[in-house]
Amino acid sequence: MNLIIDCHGHYTTAPDALGEYREEQKENLEDNPFYEHVKGIIEITDDQIRESLENAQLKLQNERGTDVTIFSPRASWMGHHIGNQSTSTTWSEHCNDLIYRITELYPKNFIGVAQLPQSPGSDLTASAVELERCISELGFIGCNLSPDPSGGYWTSPPLDDRYWYPIYEKMIELAVPAMIHVSASCHRCFHTTGSHYLGADTTAFQQLMMAKNLFIDFPDLKFIIPHGGGAVPYHWGRFRGLSDMMKLQSLEEFIQHNIFFDTCVYHQQGIDLLVDVVPTDNILFASEMVGAVRGIDPYTGHYFDDTKRYIDDCPLDEVDKHKVFSENARRVFDRLDHHLERVGLINQ
Ligand SMILES: [Zn+2]
Repeated sequence: MNLIIDCHGHYTTAPDALGEYREEQKENLEDNPFYEHVKGIIEITDDQIRESLENAQLKLQNERGTDVTIFSPRASWMGHHIGNQSTSTTWSEHCNDLIYRITELYPKNFIGVAQLPQSPGSDLTASAVELERCISELGFIGCNLSPDPSGGYWTSPPLDDRYWYPIYEKMIELAVPAMIHVSASCHRCFHTTGSHYLGADTTAFQQLMMAKNLFIDFPDLKFIIPHGGGAVPYHWGRFRGLSDMMKLQSLEEFIQHNIFFDTCVYHQQGIDLLVDVVPTDNILFASEMVGAVRGIDPYTGHYFDDTKRYIDDCPLDEVDKHKVFSENARRVFDRLDHHLERVGLINQ
């Protein structure tokens, strides 16, 4: 069976109680930014979770013919810039717990990816602890790592700085990749899912391309750059030229084992370009549904984020399409096959 694995989906349809908990956190912080949050309880029933998915992500999986989604908390709600470390820790734990419940309710449809409790000005100790909990206890297979937890002000060092090493060490120890994914913009110059997301994808690629020791120190570190790699594939020539001027290795060599792009590009021409310039081994199928762009394209009559159609119609041959839909994800997410076997989606 040719599985179709969507490597990028978010729980954007969570029951109201989750948002209410977050609003309460923000109220606690109004008078005291150092307010120490405790986790507490969010009352959400299994039926409410089922209801939140059955007319959304599950229905779309079924309609579009995708099999399983690698699923994480709502990215724009990660809000690492809000409050302090205790705010992010308690919030992330709840968001990840909900993903875990989804993976238990629908083990053949969803596999978990963790939100990390990053907090500007804090080190990554809490993030490493939460990653360990999510992988070892909740059965997740990856994480979303924000290169800019400040929400648009870029106050953190670039991704090759030793600041990030504790989370990389934990990723290697647990054999999981990270999707580089920012959260909401709190800078009025950047629109969250437009310029902020795509700008961050592009920025992360450039930082990693210029990294001197990162992939020497961590040869097995794997990053997925979402949203088709931001501006990178379209400007592949510019990045190749810069790489050449800086006497770096070729882009193909640089990305080969460590950098992957998803297919969250919402038109055929964009996907055709992506598969033309980026090596097929480095492209993972994804839709980011239900996410940033929810409407129907008047040119095609189909949902913008129905990305399977674009891969079906792109010029790759069947062998390469299979890589994009399935094989590459199984290679990048080391723990994925184990999960697929456990739930009977592949044979041992
Ligand atoms: Zn996303």
